Amino acid sequence: LVRKQNRHEKTMVRVKECCIGDGDLTVIAGPCAVEEEEMTFELARALKHMGVHILRGGVFKPRTSPYSFQGLGWNGLEILAAAGQNAGLPVITEVTEAGDVEKVSRYADILQVGSRNMQNFGLLKEMGRSGRPVLLKRGFSATLEEWLLAAEYIMSAGNNQVILCERGIRTFENYTRNTFDINAIPALKRLTHLPVLADPSHGTGRRELVEPVALAAVAAGADGIMVEVHPQPENALSDGFQSLRPHELAPLINRARAVRDAL
Ligand code: PEP
Ligand code: MN
Repeated sequence: LVRKQNRHEKTMVRVKECCIGDGDLTVIAGPCAVEEEEMTFELARALKHMGVHILRGGVFKPRTSPYSFQGLGWNGLEILAAAGQNAGLPVITEVTEAGDVEKVSRYADILQVGSRNMQNFGLLKEMGRSGRPVLLKRGFSATLEEWLLAAEYIMSAGNNQVILCERGIRTFENYTRNTFDINAIPALKRLTHLPVLADPSHGTGRRELVEPVALAAVAAGADGIMVEVHPQPENALSDGFQSLRPHELAPLINRARAVRDAL
């Protein structure tokens, strides 16, 4: 069950040498979408050097407009997996179709369910059968209860390696792309034994707000953060406006660790 049966129940998600929910802060970083090969390899090595634990990168991008860059697909997945291997980082990528779960599982260490698919129950059940850890993002209009029940779909299909990731919700506020629901972090830590991560990139949609919101999430008890990083955000094929430059990530990680250690 997703809900805690007692106060001390805690799930750790193990991915290669890295363990999410073990008390140390987990950092996932990488581009919104996988782009050119050489750039991905270089970025992965730079991220590894900064102490990032897991490389992210979308290859099947659920873009709002069908005319926006849709991701490199299977070629992108090969680039991501190779870049991760080269840098010594496990990789995470989003799966958007139930029929792709098995094949993506052969390349990716963690499967991501995007906000738009949080209640795609066919996809969730397939994730439950995948044998891979699953990072389940919050639907941007989902309540905590609906989100936990979505996680229950994965777990009831036989997979308890589930990570929850708050990525902001729709509110009336439109200065930011989404409203990062800080409340969700401590609430989930009480309700469930699953690790809880924060995505301040989609949660704000503004580069300058990523670090403060990341630190707030860590202060609120998040087990880790997922941050979009791009070597040239102004030329990124998706979400450049919310992507940090690599040199902006290292100080963020240091401050986030300091906040975690101060708890
Ligand atoms: C992503 O992390 O690549 C993504 C598309 O985020 P979300 O599903 O939260 O919009
Ligand atoms: Mn993105």
